[in-house]
Amino acid sequence: MDEELETRRGTLRQLWSWTRGSRRALLTALGCALTGAALGLAQPLLVNSTIEAATNSRSVAGLLVLLAALFAGQALLQAWSTYRLDRAGEGIVRRLRQAMIDQLLRLRMAVYDRQRVGDLISRTTTDTTLLRDVLATDAANAVVNSIVVAGGVAVMVWLDPLLATVVLAVTLSSGLVVAAVLKGIRRETVAAQDATGSLAADLERVLSAIRTVRVNRAESRESAALAGRNGAVYTHNVRAARLSAVVSPAIDLAVQGSLIVVIVVGLSRVSAGAMTVGELVAFLLYVNYLAAPMSGLFDIAPALQTGLAALERAQEVLDLPVESERERRTAAPTSGPGAGLVLRDLRFRYTDRDILRGTSFHVPRNSCTAVAGPSGAGKSTLFSLLGRFYEPDSGSIVFDGRDVHTDHSIAQWRARIGLVEQHSPLMYGTLRDNIGYAAPDADETWLRQVVDMAGLTALVDRLPSGLDTEVGEHGSSLSGGEQQRVAIARALLARPEILLLDEPTSHLDAANEQLLTRTLRRISAECTLLVIAHRLSTIRAADQVVVLDAGQVVATGGYDDVRDLLPQHRVTA
Ligand code: ATP
Repeated sequence: MDEELETRRGTLRQLWSWTRGSRRALLTALGCALTGAALGLAQPLLVNSTIEAATNSRSVAGLLVLLAALFAGQALLQAWSTYRLDRAGEGIVRRLRQAMIDQLLRLRMAVYDRQRVGDLISRTTTDTTLLRDVLATDAANAVVNSIVVAGGVAVMVWLDPLLATVVLAVTLSSGLVVAAVLKGIRRETVAAQDATGSLAADLERVLSAIRTVRVNRAESRESAALAGRNGAVYTHNVRAARLSAVVSPAIDLAVQGSLIVVIVVGLSRVSAGAMTVGELVAFLLYVNYLAAPMSGLFDIAPALQTGLAALERAQEVLDLPVESERERRTAAPTSGPGAGLVLRDLRFRYTDRDILRGTSFHVPRNSCTAVAGPSGAGKSTLFSLLGRFYEPDSGSIVFDGRDVHTDHSIAQWRARIGLVEQHSPLMYGTLRDNIGYAAPDADETWLRQVVDMAGLTALVDRLPSGLDTEVGEHGSSLSGGEQQRVAIARALLARPEILLLDEPTSHLDAANEQLLTRTLRRISAECTLLVIAHRLSTIRAADQVVVLDAGQVVATGGYDDVRDLLPQHRVTA
């Protein structure tokens, strides 16, 4: 219980810190709302005076004009404050959402291995929208309504303490009922939000593998699985709705009960001469006037629970560890003689199993080195370490005499390398957008040169709008080989000193294979090329072959030196 309270307090503190930058706007809006509420509170008193003036045959025109002015002023102030609050709420959520987006783009690589993308997206979009609704209306209404209720109660106590006590007793008993159900509402709300995240994650999983789903005729199975998730969202929301449904009747009961009690007790006090009819009418008007803010307060409570739970889910994203831009190892830098890339005694494990077990080799500058080896040998892991997506547990990587980890920040190092993944993702947009991604300001001559180096000139000439042709979602309008070459062009455009290329395992026809081999030769003249080779033609074209097995280098040399150790069953002849 204490822990829950502490979490709640922590969330409220976070909420307060997110209001930084909007506090003045919030204060102005609240000020307007309160002034409007005060104008509303003054109206029953004015009605009381008007009734008394009319009863005593005095002129009521001035009082009626004042009443109309108060009414108009209240409406204007309420409209203005609602707009300002909405705007401030949007501003707060925009900052939170942007912080989440920035965070999601910079998480440590190991975090992406654990988290579900759909859930992260759901937290950034759905949960922040829930929070916005709460901030824009409910939180502000809660403050205004509390003050209005407090003001109204004070005036009622001033008008007639006995009647006020009666009203408070009836209201508080309903308040106790509401407080009891709030905890349940919060539990169901959090569960519904988690279930929404899981639904989004599963939907993302299915849509991103839609061809596999179709070809396995798994639509109905996936639909049933998603229906389960969807049903969980429904069940939790319905349970929360069931509990919330108790809230309104409880409040209505309080209001109706108060009105009846006030009328009964009030009339007896009027007949006893303890209060005037005007005072009783004013008192009844207060009870009536306070009904809306009071039931509003109780209605807001479940919504606030939803908003705070949403903020907690958003905050969890912000607490995930990020890759630091300036991350450097503190160990003394390792120097290395000679030009090129030197990997020395690299050891690495993702979890509890050694994946790289003392990997060492040298890649001479401006040469092509093929890394071959059986599946699971650790080839892609090696690239992950070279891209600094993970840090080695021990060992060093030195490029041109400078330690990659101690002499470079992550950004500095990545500026020196290019990476072409096996399934290089192309993005929605034109060919030019995709190739220019690494260096949007590259000049046209270099861009054309790179297109030529990657063997794309014929494709560009054939396409109706050349480089400005749309490539479709994930480059779907290009062939696998073309997509791979676009990815190579993209990497080359940034003039990397080292290019890491994970060769596609899918079948390339003879023409494409020759093209790739030619491309590799051209690239290695420009930069140091390290290629994970699955194809015999690539291994043959390399200046050096490194054979990796179970995280260790088992052979290094030319094709003829290592051919007996190559995993023939894997290498496409
Ligand atoms: P392939 O040729 O099949 O692509 P590979 O030589 O590139 O294989 P890696 O992808 O480096 O092999 O994987 C080496 C080992 O590390 C495998 O046993 C794999 O299961 C494991 N592994 C890879 N990535 C992760 C990860 N993110 N978390 C945990 N284990 C991983």
